Amino acid sequence: MSRFGSLQVLPRQLLRTSVHRRAAAPVSLQGAHRTAINNSSSRSYATSSNQRSSESTQQPKFDNRVKIVEVGPRDGLQNEKKSIPLATKIELIERLAKTGLQTIEAGAFVSPKWVPQMANSSEILEHLLKTPPPSPVPLTYSFLAPNTKGLDSAFSLLSQYPKAFETETAGRSSKVAQEGGKPALEIAVFAAATESFSQKNLNCSIDTSLTRFKDVIQQAKAANLRVRAYISVVLGCPFEGYDVDPHRVASIATTLLEMGADEISLGDTTGMGTAPRTKELLSCLSSAGIRNEDLAMHFHDTYGQALVNTAVALEHGIRTFDSSVGGLGGCPYSPGATGNVATENVVYFMESLGMDTGVDLDRVADIGHWITREIGKANDSAVGKAVLGARTRERPEDVDDKGAPLT
Ligand SMILES: [Zn+2]
Repeated sequence: MSRFGSLQVLPRQLLRTSVHRRAAAPVSLQGAHRTAINNSSSRSYATSSNQRSSESTQQPKFDNRVKIVEVGPRDGLQNEKKSIPLATKIELIERLAKTGLQTIEAGAFVSPKWVPQMANSSEILEHLLKTPPPSPVPLTYSFLAPNTKGLDSAFSLLSQYPKAFETETAGRSSKVAQEGGKPALEIAVFAAATESFSQKNLNCSIDTSLTRFKDVIQQAKAANLRVRAYISVVLGCPFEGYDVDPHRVASIATTLLEMGADEISLGDTTGMGTAPRTKELLSCLSSAGIRNEDLAMHFHDTYGQALVNTAVALEHGIRTFDSSVGGLGGCPYSPGATGNVATENVVYFMESLGMDTGVDLDRVADIGHWITREIGKANDSAVGKAVLGARTRERPEDVDDKGAPLT
């Protein structure tokens, strides 16, 4: 077998469902699906297990809602060499909040020595608490806190604004900011699937990192905050290559879930994932008893495989996907490589399959154009560029000479 494995499974269920849905309700590719998805903490997403059980007795039960976690403001920007002004970061978050996205990764409480770009995350969190950006759906803001020091910084700020955010025990209000609703907050930790990446990225072994995360997760849960845990390099490591052991990923994910993490985001940090290996990984996790609704996929488009892998994950029953507006981001160990799959691409792809992201594609395309210009990078979203190009052709009076909206 080649290093890519053999592709034996085509997403038949997904294609069948897509055709079925198209007959029932035509799919709009212009961001017409703006239904608010009711909230992230619900466990109502379809899973492979409930699809299996219903298939034998009745029509397959199919939930077409997909949650997109926007990681642009943190994962997308953190490796930018040039310091990005606080005002630009806040404007990015405020613009994203208006698109229908439910979760935005907004910053990181990490050492400014290691990640200087995240140095003003406290100011960002404070701004979000004091002036929650208007949004069409209730929003969750995620902040990375890889150790108790980072968590303490977040907590000291939260203690100054105890009534400015939602906690899990209080029950999530469906109100949005305009109606006096408050954002929810989530704390995120990140482990790695290989020892080499863990040593290089976290300066410690996988086991040591998990021991550290235990305190962070338990303290965050004690404060009634949701916790997300990333596992990096699950489908390829810059130091160990393609052969990342899916059983090791399953074991790390299980440990993190047992510690109290609410969701595991599986990161294909290098973009080395392929369709067959994505399937193999997810099958291994299912066999280990990990539920699809506890998983998110975090694909990078380095080798152009992100949407193929997304289709495989969707077919497997995953309904949460991370992406970054304008394809912001990269891997510091692969200079010049493209980064996170673009939010515009994922939204368009999901809509083409009859899935409902609740995200306004036009607005996200505008943001991708704007932020990549702001930070002097190329817009890495093929869909974003196509949407803007089509608009230029259709309504030349509404755009400037570069296809940007006249606002
Ligand atoms: Zn990423």
